[in-house]
Amino acid sequence: MKYPALIINRQKLKENVERVVEMCRKAGIEPCAVVKCLCAIPEITQIYVEAGIKALADSRIDNLKKIPYAGIKKWLLRIPMLSEIKDVALYADVSLNSEIETVKALSEEAEKIGKKAGVVLMVDLGDLREGVLAEDAVETAVEISKLKGIEFLGVGTNLNCYGSIIPTTENLKVLTGIAKQIEEKLNKRLQIISGGNSGSIHLISNGIMPKEINNLRIGETILLGNETSYQKHIENLHTDVFRFDAQIIELKTKPSLPFGESGLNSFGEKVYYEDKGLMKRAIIACGRQDVDGDKISPVDESIQVIGYSSDHMIVDITNAKSEYHLGNTISFNVTYGGLLSLCTSEYVLKAVE
Ligand SMILES: *Cc1c(COP(=O)(O)O)cnc(C)c1O
Repeated sequence: MKYPALIINRQKLKENVERVVEMCRKAGIEPCAVVKCLCAIPEITQIYVEAGIKALADSRIDNLKKIPYAGIKKWLLRIPMLSEIKDVALYADVSLNSEIETVKALSEEAEKIGKKAGVVLMVDLGDLREGVLAEDAVETAVEISKLKGIEFLGVGTNLNCYGSIIPTTENLKVLTGIAKQIEEKLNKRLQIISGGNSGSIHLISNGIMPKEINNLRIGETILLGNETSYQKHIENLHTDVFRFDAQIIELKTKPSLPFGESGLNSFGEKVYYEDKGLMKRAIIACGRQDVDGDKISPVDESIQVIGYSSDHMIVDITNAKSEYHLGNTISFNVTYGGLLSLCTSEYVLKAVE
């Protein structure tokens, strides 16, 4: 085995996908699985497909290119860059958009290759990241629907990101209201009304999701088993699909208070150290090039991460309940940010078990 390693439990991930799909479909919603946090690693996206997902979504074209499965729709989540429009036409079946100029460019590229690019118009309901404001939505939708290279699929929104705004029945009803106005104006049904991300799951659990919402884009709930608006665990979902293991390279009893003249640490930060007397300390072979120490937490709750730099992490094992030896590994639970960082690090082995 090579370390550090991110261990992915195939069965647990598969069950999470199946359960989220079931929960959504019962509410009349077809979920898109968001795999950006996993860098769309093929061995993992394969599990989603086996578990019945029909659409995979990512923010980056480079990741969409790794999704080859026939019959699976590929969604580009991040509003496209003008410089990547050609690739958007080639590799994304659906893209989320908020700029008419970008959609026009996409239309031209799609026409060139004899395709129609699927477009969802994003509406900003207060989170203040991407999206047209509500008052501009109908007009923009009408313009998009005239473009020859575009299949205008519907509307969507994204909350819980920049502005930490929680999806509610009220704000999603603004979206469904806009959808209705667009349908009347275009005199046709919209295929997609996309009501957000894992922050919208609580509306399903509580049975208060507006019935017109027929799509969600779900990353975190599948990966970590919780919804994100209130950080609540979703019953039936595994919270331990992922585990991070790193190996002990030094194990010594040392003082807890650094000695010598005190300055800044290697990242230019002033750190406060508490004198806890002698401490049993393990150095493990991982660091910021893999993950920040505050984005993972030891599975063994009797030990504690006390510091980390580019390639070293120091763990206090003074009160550890189990015994650790040089060469042993220490296991960690991961947060969303931790998972993103571990998947992105080329130094971390990704092992599906
Ligand atoms: C990341 C992202 C999602 C998925 O968010 P989760 O909280 O992981 O469910 C959905 N939509 C957009 C536009 C995103 O950028």
